[in-house]
Amino acid sequence: MTDQKFPVAEIFWSIQGEGYYAGHPATFIRLAGCNLACSFCDTPSTSVPMNLSTEEILDQVTKLIVPTTYQPIIVLTGGEPSIHPIELLITKLLSQNFRVHLETNGSFSNTFNLHHSRFWVTCSPKPETLPKLHHSGGAYTYDEVKWLIPTFTPKDINWTLSAHHYLQPIHTGASSSPVTNLCNLKTCIDYLRTTCVPYPHTLSLSSQLHKLIGVR
Ligand code: SF4
Repeated sequence: MTDQKFPVAEIFWSIQGEGYYAGHPATFIRLAGCNLACSFCDTPSTSVPMNLSTEEILDQVTKLIVPTTYQPIIVLTGGEPSIHPIELLITKLLSQNFRVHLETNGSFSNTFNLHHSRFWVTCSPKPETLPKLHHSGGAYTYDEVKWLIPTFTPKDINWTLSAHHYLQPIHTGASSSPVTNLCNLKTCIDYLRTTCVPYPHTLSLSSQLHKLIGVR
């Protein structure tokens, strides 16, 4: 069987800036391509992604990590990584004792049934994917959900999807007005002050720390 190749936009080490693991060191695998085309997308465009096999990805990731690190975090992001056949890549990364954190827009919410203590799924819904997100039964569908503001309001939050919900201001970097970015942040803070949260400690701010501290 030929080894699956993936269009890899970049592999880099940084600080996770969003959600539950904000502030944690992590190695990012950014796969090229997405099934959506959001106007506020801040994913850097890469005209010619690298075409890498699972082993080549693993090799690059391993070079970025201090070998004795306990369960290093590998963030599999995009684009939308789930448009690619990534299940075996995830399985391989888990077999190396890494934590694997998948970031998805929720288009393919039922694709992953990898119940593993080191597998973490972050969903950042988009208007197109929100109707597809369902509570999957006994367990939560996602480990965390990031609600982009002002695309959504707290009324859109489906509390049954996860135990961890975040309001994240849309911040599109250099292409966006700093005034707009600040306005989005203030809207998040206002929502956090006024929203009725039905479960304890389930809603907080995801401020995109990496942008605030000037790292990738
Ligand atoms: S889903 Fe994410 S990666 Fe895809 S276009 Fe929208 S913001 Fe960009």
